[in-house]
Amino acid sequence: MNTVYFDNAATTPVNSEVIDVMTDCLKTIYGNPSSSHSYGRDAKAILEESRRKIANILGAKPSEIFFTSCGTESNNSILRNALQNDDIKRIISTPIEHPSIYSTLNSISNEIKIEYVKLDKYGVVNLEDLENLLSSDSSKALVSIMHANNEVGGLNDIKSIGDLCDKYQALFHSDMVQTMGHLPINLKEIKIDFLAASAHKFHGPKGVGFMFVRQPHKLNAFITGGSQERGMRSGTENMASIVGMAHALEIACSKIEEDIVHLNKLRHAMAEKLKMVFPNIGFMTNLDNSLCTILSVIFPKEFSNDMLLFQLDMKGVACSGGSACSSGANKVSHVLSHLNAPSDRKVVRFSFSKYNNLDEINFCVDKIKELASETSS
Ligand code: PLP
Repeated sequence: MNTVYFDNAATTPVNSEVIDVMTDCLKTIYGNPSSSHSYGRDAKAILEESRRKIANILGAKPSEIFFTSCGTESNNSILRNALQNDDIKRIISTPIEHPSIYSTLNSISNEIKIEYVKLDKYGVVNLEDLENLLSSDSSKALVSIMHANNEVGGLNDIKSIGDLCDKYQALFHSDMVQTMGHLPINLKEIKIDFLAASAHKFHGPKGVGFMFVRQPHKLNAFITGGSQERGMRSGTENMASIVGMAHALEIACSKIEEDIVHLNKLRHAMAEKLKMVFPNIGFMTNLDNSLCTILSVIFPKEFSNDMLLFQLDMKGVACSGGSACSSGANKVSHVLSHLNAPSDRKVVRFSFSKYNNLDEINFCVDKIKELASETSS
C-alpha cells in the first residue's frame, strides 16, 4: 500500500456502478427532457424516475425534490429565498456552518436579522438556547442548522430541532450535505421544511445536488430562465449526473446500518491507536455524538509546523486541515477558531468512507509514527 485516501468529507470516489449508469445515460439518453418529441419524453421519464428514487429513499414526495448543481447552490437558493419571503423576519443559524451558509448569511446580514445559537465544545447545538431564541421574539424565523459539521463531525439532533421549530412556527432548513447517504434520513419523521444535499459526498458525481422543499412551500427561482424544475431552478437538467446521483444514493442507503458500524470501527481504531502512540493527542470530535465518517485530531506539539499536511501527503496519507474549501489557505478555519481549537497545535481532519479498511488505518498510524521519529531525530 502506498497511499490512503482519508479526505472523504471533501469528496468521495465515484462508485463504479454509478459511472456505468452515467455512461449509459450519456450514450443513450441525449434528448432534452423539456422537448416534446420521443427523445425528450424518454429523457423526462428517466429524470422523473431519478426524482422518485430519491424521494422514496427519504420519505418525501417526488414533487418535493429539486435538482441543482451542488450543495452550495441548494443552500444559497434556500437562504436567499428568505429575503423574498415577507413573512420571514430573522434567520437563526450556527457560527460553524459551511461557507455556503456562513458566507451567504454574512452577505445578507444587512437585509435580515441573523442570530446565532450557542454550541457545546464539539459544535453541537444547545437546544435550550435555541428554544430561548425562538421564544424571545414572536417574529417568524427561518432556522438553518447543519445536520453534521463538515470539519469536526458534531451531530445535531435534527428531530428535536424540527420539533422546536414547529412549536414556535419557525421554518427549518438543514444542510445535510455531509450526512446524506451516510445516516438514515426519514423526512416523514422530521419536521423539516428544506434540506440541501450534494452527490459527490456519497460516491456520486461532482456538480450535482438537490433540495428538498416541503409542500406547500415554494422557492422563488435563484436561477431564472426556462422554468425547469417546476419554475424553481431553471437550466437544462444535467441528466447523466442526476441519474448517477440517484443511483449513488440508492447504493449508499442499501446497507447503511452495516456501513455505519464499519465506519465507527475504523474511527475508534484510529483514535485508540493514536492515543496509544501519543498519550497527549486530542480530538475535536466527540466519538459518542458525531458523524461516523469524521475524526478531527489535535496533534501533539511536536507536529506543530505549517508543513504537516504536506508531510502527511508525502508519506501517502491524503487528509485535510479543515474543510477542503478553507484548506488552500493556511489559516485556521472559522469552525476551529469558534470551537477554540488550541492555537499552538495542528488540527487534522481524517474522513473515511465505507471503502476504507483497518489496514489503511494501520498504514496511516505507522506513517504518523514515522513522521514523529523523523521530527524528533
Ligand atoms: N455543506 C457542507 C456541510 C459541505 O461539507 C459542503 C462541501 O464541502 C457543502 C455544503 C457544499 O457542497 P458542494 O461542494 O456540492 O457545493
